[in-house]
Amino acid sequence: MTVAKNFDIIIVGGGLSGALVAWRLKYHYPNLSLKLIERDKRLGGNHTWCFFDTDLTPNQRHYLTPLIIKQWPAYAVRFPEISRIIHTGYAAISSSHFHDVIAKDLGDAILTDTKVIEVTGQSIKLDDGRIFNAPCVIDARGATLSPNLALGYQKFLALELELSTPHSLSDPIIMDATVSQDDGYRFLYTLPFSPTRLLIYDTYYSDQQAFSVEKLKDRILDYSNHHGWKVASILREEQGVLPIILAGDLKKFEVEQSSGAPKIGLAGALFHPTTGYSLPDALRITDLLTQAHHKENLTSELARTLISRYRQRSWRSQSYFRLLNRMLFQAGEPLARYKILERFYKFDTGLIQRFYAAKLKPLDRLRIVFGKPPVPLLAAIRCFSETRTLRRWEK
Ligand SMILES: Cc1cc2nc3c(=O)[nH]c(=O)nc-3n(C[C@H](O)[C@H](O)[C@H](O)COP(=O)(O)OP(=O)(O)OC[C@H]3O[C@@H](n4cnc5c(N)ncnc54)[C@H](O)[C@@H]3O)c2cc1C
Repeated sequence: MTVAKNFDIIIVGGGLSGALVAWRLKYHYPNLSLKLIERDKRLGGNHTWCFFDTDLTPNQRHYLTPLIIKQWPAYAVRFPEISRIIHTGYAAISSSHFHDVIAKDLGDAILTDTKVIEVTGQSIKLDDGRIFNAPCVIDARGATLSPNLALGYQKFLALELELSTPHSLSDPIIMDATVSQDDGYRFLYTLPFSPTRLLIYDTYYSDQQAFSVEKLKDRILDYSNHHGWKVASILREEQGVLPIILAGDLKKFEVEQSSGAPKIGLAGALFHPTTGYSLPDALRITDLLTQAHHKENLTSELARTLISRYRQRSWRSQSYFRLLNRMLFQAGEPLARYKILERFYKFDTGLIQRFYAAKLKPLDRLRIVFGKPPVPLLAAIRCFSETRTLRRWEK
C-alpha cells in the first residue's frame, strides 16, 4: 500500500512562476514544509528571461539580484524610420543560473525528474504512484490552451553565438525591424552577453504557431553575417511560442479555473497581454502569496481567491492592451504591422516604460491611438469589439 506524504504546500512545475514562489516562500518561512516538483532534471527549462527595471518594484528588483546574469543601462530599437537608444535598465536571467541558485537555496524541498500525473486542490499523484497531500497545492505547469481566450502568437528561435571577433554592441537591441517582413511582424532581438557572445532571436508576431527551425536559424546567421559578426560556434538554441491575448471571456475562464489546484504563471493567464512575458506577474503573485501566508496559513482556496482577484483586476486594466493587440493582428496588413510598433517607439521614454509595465495612464492611452493611425481606419474601428473577435475564434 502507498503511504501518502504530507506537506504544508506543494507546487507542481519548477519553471519560472513555480520556482519563484517556492524560493520566496522558503526564504520567508524556512520551517515551511514545502515541495516543489519538476518533471525535468533541472528547474526553469531552457530560457533567457529578460525584464525592464521599471517593470518591478525596488524590492522585487533587489531580491531578484542573485538570479541576474547580465544587466544593461539602456537598450536600442531600430525601425526603417527611426533608430533610438532608450535609457531604461534591462536585465537577463538564464534558466541555467536560475536552477543553480534556487536549487541550492531550496535543497531537498525540490523533487526533479519527477512527473506529476494528477493534481487536485488537496493532493497530487506522481508517475511512480506516490501520493502527496497538502492543504495548499499550486499548479504551475506552464501554458495550456483555453477555448475562452482568443490568441495571436509571438514565436521565436534564438541562437547563442560565440564570435571570432568582438561585436562592439554595448546594449541589447530589443527590436530590429529593419529586416525583411514575413509571417506577420518580424524583428531580430539581440542580447550582448560578452564582447564576443550574442544571443540573437528571430521573432514573429504571427497568426500561426508553426515555424521552420532551419529557416529561422539561417536567418539569424544571415543577420549576423550582415552585421559583420563572424560566428565561431553556435553554443545553444532556444525557442518558444508565447500567447498574445486578443480577446477573452474572463467569466468563463474563471469557471475553468474554479476547480483543481489554483494555477499561476502562463497556466493562469498571468502574463503581459502584448508581450506574453510573465516575469513581472510571477513576482507580483509571489509577493501576494508570501504576504498572505504571513496572516494565515495558505490553503488552495485562499490562494485561488487571491489569484482570481488579481487576475480580474489585471484583466480590466488590460482591456486596452487587448484592443491594441487586435489592431496589430487584425487591422494591420501582416507585413505592415511593424508600422504600429515604429509609431509607438516615437513616444517618450516614460510612456514606453509604462506600456511594458502595463501601467498606462489615461492620457497615454489616448496618445497611443490619437492621430493618424498606422492601420486603415475602418479596420481599426472593427477591432473595437472584443466579443466579435471571440465569436470568430470560437468558430
Ligand atoms: C524561450 C522563451 C523566452 C522567454 N523570454 C521571456 C522574457 O524574456 N521575459 C519574460 O517575462 N517572459 C519570457 N518568456 C515568457 C514566459 O515568461 C515564460 O514562458 C515562463 O517560463 C513561463 O513561466 P511558467 O512558470 O508559467 O511556465 P514554465 O516556465 O514553462 O514552467 C512550467 C514547468 O512545469 C513543468 N511541468 C509541466 N508539466 C509537469 C508535470 N506533469 N509534472 C511536473 N512538472 C511539470 C515544466 O517542465 C516546466 O518546468 C519566454 C518564454 C520562452 C519560451
